[in-house]
Amino acid sequence: MKIYKFGGASVKDAEGIKNVVRVLRNEGFKNTLIVISAMGKMTNAFEKIVSSCHLKTDDLQQNIQFVRDYHLTIMADLFENKSNLIFNEVEALFEELNKFLATNKSTDYNFIYDQIVGVGELLSTKIVSAYLNEIGIENQWVDVRNYLKTDDNYRDSYVNWKETNKNISKLSPNKLFITQGFLGADAQGNTTTLGREGSDYSAAIFAYCLNAKSLTIWKDVDGVLNADPRYFENALLLRQISYSEAIEMAFYGASVIHPKTLKPLENKNIPLYVRSFYNLDLSGTTVGKGVDLIPEVPCFILKENQVLVSISALDFSFMVEYNLSDIFKILHDNKLKVNLIQNSAISFSVCIEDKFNNFQHFLAAMKSKYKVSFTENVSLYTIRHATEKAIEEIEQKGEVLLKQATKGTVQIIMK
Ligand code: ADP
Ligand code: ASP
Ligand code: MG
Repeated sequence: MKIYKFGGASVKDAEGIKNVVRVLRNEGFKNTLIVISAMGKMTNAFEKIVSSCHLKTDDLQQNIQFVRDYHLTIMADLFENKSNLIFNEVEALFEELNKFLATNKSTDYNFIYDQIVGVGELLSTKIVSAYLNEIGIENQWVDVRNYLKTDDNYRDSYVNWKETNKNISKLSPNKLFITQGFLGADAQGNTTTLGREGSDYSAAIFAYCLNAKSLTIWKDVDGVLNADPRYFENALLLRQISYSEAIEMAFYGASVIHPKTLKPLENKNIPLYVRSFYNLDLSGTTVGKGVDLIPEVPCFILKENQVLVSISALDFSFMVEYNLSDIFKILHDNKLKVNLIQNSAISFSVCIEDKFNNFQHFLAAMKSKYKVSFTENVSLYTIRHATEKAIEEIEQKGEVLLKQATKGTVQIIMK
C-alpha cells in the first residue's frame, strides 16, 4: 500500500478538494490510504470553541456557527445533489458536538479540547470521502479512533503501538481508505490528539503498521526547502535528505514535517516523499536512507515566540547537578519545551517554548528558590551545515542574545 497525507492547506476550500482529485487521478489511488487534516485553519477555529466552552463566554454559539458556515459553504460548492447523505452526516456531527457541550461535566481543559477540536478532522474526512464517492472514486471512510489507540494524555497523547499495530494491520490492502490525521482514542474510547500538526505523524503510523511502500505528504511548497519560504527569500529545494537530517531539521523546528514522523518510517526504511500539490511535474524531496543532503547547502530554521530565561541560585551557589535537576523537573511539570540550554558556574540560561500557557506558573514555582530574569518574544535561529556567510546573514537580523555552536550546527537567539 501507499499512504498519502493532505494537510489543512490542501483542503481549505472546494477548489482545493477538487485539486486533491486532480492529484489522485494523476498519481493513482489504488491500494492507498489517505490521511486528511481539518480544513484550512479550522483547528484554530475549533480552539476558539474550546475556549468559549471552558471560560463559559457568550460567543460559543457564534464560534460554532463560524465553523459550520465554513463547511456548509464548501459543501454547497462541491455537491450539486443537496439530498446527498453527507448533509445529514455533517449535521449529525454538529449535533454530537452540541450534545457534548451541553452535557460535559469535566473541567479538564485538555480533555475538553480533544473532544471538541477533533470534530474538525471528522468533518473534513467525511466531506472529502463523500465527494470522492460522488464523482466515482470509490473509497471507504475510516474512523481512526477505532484503530489508533493512545494513552489519555490529552492534547499530546502517546501512541499505544501494540494495540495500534494490531488494529491497523487488519485493514485490507485492496481499497482506497480515507481517514483522519491527528486523532486517536484512549482505552475509554474518548478522542485524543497527537499534538498540533500531528497529522504527518498519523500518516507515518499508518505507513509503519501497513508496511507501506511509501508515504507522500502533499504540500503547498515544492518540497522540503533549506529554509521556510515565508521568512527567507531564495529558499532552495532539497532534492534528497536522509532520515537523520530530516529528524534534526524537524526537531529544531522546520515546521514542514512533524518531528515524530520520521522515526517510524526510518525503522522500516519506508521512503517519505514531500511534494507540491500544485506542481505535479516536480518530484519534490525524497527522505530516505543514505546521503545527508542534496544539494549540500546551509539550512535555516526559525522558531519564533521563544522565552530566554536566565536562572541563578538565590544564595549564589553554583548551578550544578542538584539545581539543574530541580529546574528541569519544574520545566517538565509545566510542559515547557526546552529548545536550548547554556550553563556557566553561577547562571543557567534556557530557551523555552510555552505551548500550553504555563510560563507564569513556572515562574511562580521558581521564584522561591532562584533568581530568574527573562526576555520574551525572542527568535531562535538554527543553522545546520553552517558556514561563516550563513551565520553573518542571520546575525544581521537584529541583536544577538546568545550563540551556541556544535559540530556543523549553530544556534543563535535574537531579539
Ligand atoms: P499542512 O497543510 O500539511 O499542514 P503546513 O502549513 O503545516 O502544511 O506546512 C507547509 C508549510 O511549512 C509551508 O507553506 C512553509 O511555509 C512551511 N515550512 C517551514 N519550513 C519549511 C521548509 N524547510 N521547507 C518547506 N516549507 C517549510
Ligand atoms: N489539524 C491539526 C492542526 O492543525 C493537525 C494537523 O493538521 O496536522 O494542528
Ligand atoms: Mg500543518
